[in-house]
Amino acid sequence: MEDGKPVWAPHPADGFQLGTIVDIGANSLTIEPLKQGQKVGDHMSCSLMYLNEATLLNNIRVRYSKDKIYTFVANILIAVNPYVDLPKLYAPETIKQYHGRSLGTLPPHVYAIADKAYRDMRVLKMSQSIIVSGESGAGKTENTKFVLRYLTMSYGTGQDIDERIVEANPLLEAFGNAKTVRNNNSSRFGKFVEIHFNEKNTVVGGFVSHYLLEKSRICQQSQEERNYHIFYRLCAGASEDIRTKFHLESPDAFRYLNRGCTRFFANKDTDKQILQNRKSPEHLKAGPLKDPLLDDQGDFNRMCGAMKKIGLDDTEKLDLFRVVAGVLHLGNIDFEEAGSTSGGCTIKNQSSQTVEYCAELLGLEESDLRVSLTSRVMLTTAGGAKGTVIKVPLKVEQANNARDALAKAVYSRLFDHVVTRVNQCFPFDSSANFIGVLDIAGFEYFEHNSFEQFCINYCNEKLQQFFNERILKEEQELYQKEGLGVNEVHYVDNQDCIDLVEAKLVGILDILDEENRLPQPSDQHFAETVHNKHKNHFRLTVPRKSKLQVHRNVRDDEGFIVRHFAGAVCYETTKFVEKNNDALHMSLECLVSESKDRFIRDLFENSINAKDSKQKAGKLSFISVGNKFKTQLNILLEKLRSTGSSFIRCIKPNLKMVSHQFEGAQILSQLQCSGMVSVLDLMQGGFPSRAPFHELYNMYKQYMPAKLTRLDPRLFCKALFKALGLNENDYKFGLTRVFFRPGKFKEFDQIMKSDP
Ligand code: ADP
Ligand code: MG
Repeated sequence: MEDGKPVWAPHPADGFQLGTIVDIGANSLTIEPLKQGQKVGDHMSCSLMYLNEATLLNNIRVRYSKDKIYTFVANILIAVNPYVDLPKLYAPETIKQYHGRSLGTLPPHVYAIADKAYRDMRVLKMSQSIIVSGESGAGKTENTKFVLRYLTMSYGTGQDIDERIVEANPLLEAFGNAKTVRNNNSSRFGKFVEIHFNEKNTVVGGFVSHYLLEKSRICQQSQEERNYHIFYRLCAGASEDIRTKFHLESPDAFRYLNRGCTRFFANKDTDKQILQNRKSPEHLKAGPLKDPLLDDQGDFNRMCGAMKKIGLDDTEKLDLFRVVAGVLHLGNIDFEEAGSTSGGCTIKNQSSQTVEYCAELLGLEESDLRVSLTSRVMLTTAGGAKGTVIKVPLKVEQANNARDALAKAVYSRLFDHVVTRVNQCFPFDSSANFIGVLDIAGFEYFEHNSFEQFCINYCNEKLQQFFNERILKEEQELYQKEGLGVNEVHYVDNQDCIDLVEAKLVGILDILDEENRLPQPSDQHFAETVHNKHKNHFRLTVPRKSKLQVHRNVRDDEGFIVRHFAGAVCYETTKFVEKNNDALHMSLECLVSESKDRFIRDLFENSINAKDSKQKAGKLSFISVGNKFKTQLNILLEKLRSTGSSFIRCIKPNLKMVSHQFEGAQILSQLQCSGMVSVLDLMQGGFPSRAPFHELYNMYKQYMPAKLTRLDPRLFCKALFKALGLNENDYKFGLTRVFFRPGKFKEFDQIMKSDP
């Protein structure tokens, strides 16, 4: 400041901007931005000598402008989405280069992280995990795929298994990815992919666990978003034969597909014409819902190729397609009020054929399907002690809900099946260790936040705690163990927030389950209970009414605000109760679990609910989505804690999804959300680079006179550092290794190599 050097000043769009101080007031500084192109000398290149948000952001910015999308901060890899193909960066030759090379010897790369995980696994004989995080569209799934490809190519056997691990992705993505406003190929589920290795550290198999498929998308999409890819691909790419057999039409003939995406034809006349020729072959291939950015037909063929490669035969493929088509037809069933006094509804006449198709594809009796969609079996306790089973007619709205619930259940079981089937494609019987890659959505904060965001943010609290544990705690412990005498770094532990969500009985998830079990659960009562149980909780507040009332169209809209590690989020509790329940009505459950179609029956076979519900005869069953996720998450974290870990933080450079555009403020907020800022605090006062004495010894002995190399590694290093006259503030000797100040290891390395 005093020497007139530029400083970083907060800036609303860029995050930070360089400027010079022109006035210093009592409580404020006046900073004049540097003019475009103005030379700032050394400061601009701004080595990470002064490590803080501004310099990190600038470093990433400068590197990004040169297509250097990867940056290391200690051992955490930051990856900025280039939104453009960088073939050289991922070429097979590049894969070879990183093979067996220590971190820091080559430019930062996702391959470097993959190789580190592999070497750690081999040396420490311990499984490893790579946690990839970031917001939607940041590049998590792409980087995950690069890791898998790297490991199978470098350390596979060159047999089927390697290809299968890679080819499983197109299949999973067909059923679990969709176009959203944030990402044209957005994964709507989380996954943990394990690659298993044998005693000799070669690839022997794989295993995929999946989390929280977004179910609401199956029946409804927001403006300009799409349903899962498979639906459009099937419509666009299926052969004539399949098309006829499954009664397929263009996507815009199906309710589950034609509500979200806007039409892509600017010209209304073309649109009309196409609708008139609805069944023309051209139209089937490219209907109004054809997204010019996606090649559904080409993708269909690629997906079929992938299915073949992982070993799915034609029968299995048709099973999958049949169910997908069945779901589409199910969605087209419409109801109307029944004329009589019953208060119920019937299926509209126009839907007759649809019902027939749907029943045929899902192996159901048409009459059973009709009855199950328009009525519900209930148990009355009135009268006889055992209770009587009665049929209650459904109102139109209830029947719509029943239809959608059935569609969601069928599709999500189908997705489970796809994952199970993928896992059967790479079995292994002799696994010594694995490397797992976690690809799961980062912290989410939208204008409207519902149960999905609540679950994903809860997950991110848990992952953040793990990150803190690993990076911060381990760092501090290491300094202590090595006797460095560095000040403790404080960080906010988020256990209280995790407890708020998952504690027994009083946690939000258990309160929600309790609500689900009430005879007449309500979202509003749930929200009230949450507030009543947690008055004055630091992490929880009541939203200001007015805030929720914007865009409000649901009567009993309620909510709560949770103060997460990455910021406060207001959750609207509308539909929490419904979204927390994975169970179908008894009538529907029985319907599908007794399907004539073996494949459908199997999808529902191991559902506990089917067995349960028969016993409970008519009681509305409840399967908790939230608590299932909690259990899965705790298993995952237990697994992660038992492995060595690396982290990749993916960054989305802009909202337009275009290359070479760096929106600083957005990126800064992502760095904050990912916990990177707390890492910086720690490192600013710490020693991010470190090297064991023996490693330094081996690296540099060739440059040293023989006399020196007779010393033991520790003494060797001491002598070396003295001889070079290094500044003693730049490094510290621990018990087993040398620690360097930010950027100092590189300087040291350069001196050594330039001056033999
Ligand atoms: P996320 O899984 O985080 O939501 P994706 O991995 O699906 O994001 O990436 C979104 C899109 O960004 C991809 O479909 C691709 O077009 C582009 N992209 C991401 N990473 C890269 C990369 N390393 N190189 C080129 N394009 C990328
Ligand atoms: Mg993804």
